[in-house]
Amino acid sequence: MAIKKISILGSTGSIGVSTLEVVAEHADRFDVVAMTAGTNLDLFVQQIVSFRPQLVAVVSAGDAARLRDRLGDEGPEVVSGVEGLIACATHAEAGIVVSAIVGAAGLVPTMAAIEAGKDIALANKETLVTAGALVMRAVAEYGVKLYPVDSEHSAIFQSLEGHRDKDVKRLILTASGGPFRERDPQTFDNITLEDALAHPNWNMGQKITIDSATMMNKGLEVIEAHWLFGLPGDRISVHIHPQSIVHSMVEYIDGSVIAQLGVPDMKTPIAYALSYPERLPLDLPPLDLCQLGQLTFMEPDSERFPCLDLAYAALAAGGSAPAALNAANEVAVDAFLNGRISYLGIPELIEEVMSKHQVVVPGSIDDVLQVDQWARREADGIL
Ligand code: NAD
Ligand code: MG
Repeated sequence: MAIKKISILGSTGSIGVSTLEVVAEHADRFDVVAMTAGTNLDLFVQQIVSFRPQLVAVVSAGDAARLRDRLGDEGPEVVSGVEGLIACATHAEAGIVVSAIVGAAGLVPTMAAIEAGKDIALANKETLVTAGALVMRAVAEYGVKLYPVDSEHSAIFQSLEGHRDKDVKRLILTASGGPFRERDPQTFDNITLEDALAHPNWNMGQKITIDSATMMNKGLEVIEAHWLFGLPGDRISVHIHPQSIVHSMVEYIDGSVIAQLGVPDMKTPIAYALSYPERLPLDLPPLDLCQLGQLTFMEPDSERFPCLDLAYAALAAGGSAPAALNAANEVAVDAFLNGRISYLGIPELIEEVMSKHQVVVPGSIDDVLQVDQWARREADGIL
C-alpha cells in the first residue's frame, strides 16, 4: 500500500488534532510532510517532534524564530505568514491537504493547494461559503478531488454514493440544536459566554462552538452543501436531531431516505476523506442503537435561531452575499467571545451589515477578499 503524504493546515486545532490521531493510528498509511499552526507553539512543538514533517508554518515571523530556536538544527524548515501557509499547502510531496484552519483565513491557502493540483480534505467550510463558485470552478479546472470532512457533508457524500444526481429530491442536514435548543427565548438576553461554549455533543474550536449555539454553523453548512452537491437552498433542509447520531440524509424521488449514522467523533469523516474509497478501522466506541433507545428530530424554530434564516437569505441573494455574511459573523463571534456584545447582538450585527451589503459577483479571490474586508470594516464600525 502506497503511503499517502499529507499537509495539514491548522494542525493544532480540534480537527488538526483529530487528524493526527487518525495518522498515528495508521502510521503505515500516512506521512505528514507539512503542518501549519496559528499561535499555540507548545502543542505545535510536540506535534512536530512526534510527526517529523519537512516544512512547518506559523502566522508570525516572531513565532517562526522562536520555533526555530526550540527545534534546533534537527528541526524542519520553518516559514511564516500567508506565504508560509501557501508553501505548506503546495508542498511538492503532498498528495492531499487537510484544510482545517478556522475562518476565512483558510481560503487563500486552500485555493493555492487546489491550483497546485492537490486533493483536499475540507474541514474549513468558510472556503466554500466565501468563494464557492470560484473554488468549485478551480476544483474542476485542476482536476482535484474535494472530500468533505464536515460530518454532515461526509454523511451526504456517503449517502449519495452509487446514486444518480437526478434521482435526488433533497438533502437533509441534521443539527444538534446546540445548548439553547430548549432554553426559554425570553432568557436569551442573559446568555453567558460559558453557556454558549457548553456544546452538548461535540468538542470543537471556540468559533464553531458559538456558531453551533446560534445555528449559524448550520447556515454555513447549507451554503457549503449547495456548492459541494449542486442543489439550491430550497432543496436543502435542516432537522434538529439532539443525539447527533444521524449525521445527515439524502431523500430520493422514490421516497427512500438514505442516512449515515455513527457516534459523534470527527475521526470518522476525517479518516474517510483521507482514505476514500477505502474505510479504515478506528479506535472508537461502537454505535449501540439499542442502548440509545431513541433518535428524535424536530424542525428548527426561526425565532430562536435567526442566524439560520440569515444564511438561507445570503445563499438566495448569491454572489458576494455569503462572503459578507461570513465576515460579519466572524467579527460578531469574536466580539461575543471578547465580551464586547451580547449573545443576541450576534444576529443583530450580522443583519445590520447584510442590510448595507450591495451584492456583486466576485470574479477572483481578490474580489472575495475585498468583500470580506468591507464587511469586517462595516461590522467594526457598528461595534
Ligand atoms: P480550531 O480553532 O480548534 O483550530 C483552528 C486551527 O487554525 C488552529 O490550528 C489555529 O492555530 C489555526 N488558525 C487560526 N487562525 C489562523 C490564522 N489566521 N492563520 C493561520 N492559522 C490559523 O478550529 P476547529 O474547530 O478545528 O475548526 C477548523 C475548521 O473546521 C473550521 O472551519 C470549522 O468550521 C471546521 N469544522 C470543525 C469541526 C470540529 O469538530 N471542530 C467540525 C466540522 C467542521
Ligand atoms: Mg458540521
